This record gives sequence, C-alpha cells and structure tokens, in this order.
Amino acid sequence: MSPSGAEVIRQIKQQVEEVDPAEVSEHLGNGVVLVDVRESEEWDRGHIPGAVHVPRSYLESRIEGAAPDRAARVILYCASGQRSALAAHTLKEVLGYSDVASMTGGITLWKDRGYKVDVPKVLTPEQKERYGRHLLLPEVGGEGQAKLLDAKVLLLGAGGLGAPTALYLAAAGVGTLGIVDDDDVDLSNLQRQVIHTTDRIGTPKVDSAETTIHALNPDVNVVKYPVRLDASNILEIIDGYDVIVDGVDNFPTRYLLNDATVRLGIPVVSASILGFDGQLSVFKPHDGPCYRCLYPVPPPAELAPSCGANGVLGVLPGTMGMLQATEVVKLVTGIGEPLIGRLLLYEALGATFTELKVRRDPNCPICSRDPEEIVDAEMGVFPDYEAFCAAAG
Ligand SMILES: [Zn+2]
Repeated sequence: MSPSGAEVIRQIKQQVEEVDPAEVSEHLGNGVVLVDVRESEEWDRGHIPGAVHVPRSYLESRIEGAAPDRAARVILYCASGQRSALAAHTLKEVLGYSDVASMTGGITLWKDRGYKVDVPKVLTPEQKERYGRHLLLPEVGGEGQAKLLDAKVLLLGAGGLGAPTALYLAAAGVGTLGIVDDDDVDLSNLQRQVIHTTDRIGTPKVDSAETTIHALNPDVNVVKYPVRLDASNILEIIDGYDVIVDGVDNFPTRYLLNDATVRLGIPVVSASILGFDGQLSVFKPHDGPCYRCLYPVPPPAELAPSCGANGVLGVLPGTMGMLQATEVVKLVTGIGEPLIGRLLLYEALGATFTELKVRRDPNCPICSRDPEEIVDAEMGVFPDYEAFCAAAG
C-alpha cells in the first residue's frame, strides 16, 4: 500500500533542513535569498521584509529569476512550514540548489515571535491587469509596482527626450509625473516629440503632454510647471521628487540642475543628443560622480548643442529617452545596476554603444562638499559663465 499524503510529507520534512525564525531574522540580508512560496493573496496580506515572492505553483519556472546562483543559501517559508518544506525538497533534489532550508512554523510563527512583517500596497483588480506583465517579473512584482505608483519623477522638458520618456513612465505606472516646459507645441517638434499631436500645435507642451498621459494611464497624476527653470525657482520645483529626468539642451541649466540636486540629494538621469549621437549617465549625489566631475567647464558656446538649431535624427531621442526611462524604473524599484559612474555613448549610424568609466573628482567644487555648504549664489555658476553666455547670445 502507498503511504498516505501525511506520511509522504513527514518523510520529506525529515530530509529537509529546517531553520528557526530567529536564525532567519539574524541572517536576513547577508547574502541569503529568502523566498515566500505562498499564493499571491497570502503575500498581499503581509510578508517578511526583504523576501522575494515565488509561489510554489511557479517554483520551477520562476526561481531562477529570484535566486540565479544555485550555490547561494536559500531559505523558503510559507504559512506554517509544510509547503516550504516540500518546495525546499524540490529545489534541492530536482533543481540542483545545494544550500536550501525551510523556515519552521512559517510566517505564523514569525509573527508570533514579534518579528516585523511588510504589508504591501494592494493593487486594484484593474491595476493587476494593467501591470500584469510587471507582476510576472519576480524582480519587479507587486512590490516594485507599488514603488512605481508611489514614485514622483520630474521631467525637465516635454521635448525630444522628455516626450518618449514620459510616455513609457506613464505606461509603467509612475504615480506622479512633474513636467517643466514653457514652450508651445510647434509643427517642427512632431518629427520626434511623440507625446504631442498635429491638432495640438500652438498649445502649451505641458497641457498636450498631460492629455496624452491621461489618455494612456489615468493612474498618473501630472504636475505641470509651464516655466523656465532658473536659480529663483529650481529648489522649490525639484524638492520632493525621487528622480529627475534631465532632457534640457543648454549648459547653464545643466550646471544649475546639478548643483541643486547635489544639495538636495536627488538622483538625475541625464541624456543629451546631437545629430546621430546620444549620451547617457546617472548622477546620484555622493554615490558617484556629479555632472561637474564629468564636465568641470562647459565646451565653447558655439559647440553647445541646442535642439532648435541643430539637426537630430527623429528616432534618436526615442532611443535615448527609452534608456532614461529604463534607468528611472531601476532607480525607483531598486533592481539592476544603474548607470552611476558610467557614461554610455550611442552612435546611431554605426549602431554602436560605448561605455566610459567616470570617476568622482575629490576636488569637485560641488559634490566634494557638505551639501548644506552650497549656497544659492554659487548654484549654476561655472568658471567661464560670462564669456559663455555672451558668446551664446
Ligand atoms: Zn562632482
């Protein structure tokens, strides 16, 4: 006679290493992958901070996304310790993970012992459908989507770079999108600024962008700033944003933005385009170099690109804007390796990407100092400022 289900579970539990919640609590974050194998409804009601969610029914297909290294220490838990023991057995015997354990008593015992539980923001049924493809990625999941919905991202410009970036960030469910732009939509913009339409020529870009964003995703709150960014308004506008997307086309504003964001500690995803070339980097204050570490002085004014005056291949800002949007999503959700301390160059005609390392300048006039020491009067000022502005006319 075959053994009963209860007997099979008992036998499997004997073969699986079990660890106490106290041990799990102690080792959290020390390279241990903690996996919650319960169903989605159970996860949504609360889970252990730092855990990743791989329901037991998807174990075989999704565990590699959560724990790519089969030699890593993996601890599984469920509600009571039964399902996680069975899943641990599968990981070890079938999937070849070498260092697997199951947590005794599951999250029930964890809670009884008074350890912390994270209750994630619950998505509505409509949001679960809209963001379903994010939820299927273990690296993003409901938790990552909740971070996106809570995020506040400021776009400087609803032009070549800002237009595609705004579209994809809105589609991804970034909850608040601020847009700074004092221009109106012009016929000559439509070759690349895909958030605007022919029937909106002559209307403010911030209004046009808002119309498209709301049509795409009503979850997104759009905050409009139909102004030009300058020293008098920058701190007030950028304060409170989690990430800033820089698509401005002039150097004085880039320096001003750099100094203000270093002062407030806000990361900037910066891109620029000219002709067939684009470049991209992430400036996260004090985690890597700032814009001034990379460009201590601006190039001569006649070489300073301005999209109004120079040619640009219409699809190029789309490519660079997508890369910016990708970096924003990574910074907000905390996944992957952001482009901090690296400058990515894209050359469209040759279809080549080149990466350059960028180091922090220990003598940088801005980021080498205590942020509170950066006073208003020096923000946005650079050595040849007078000459630069005179030449730029
Ligand atoms: Zn610096």
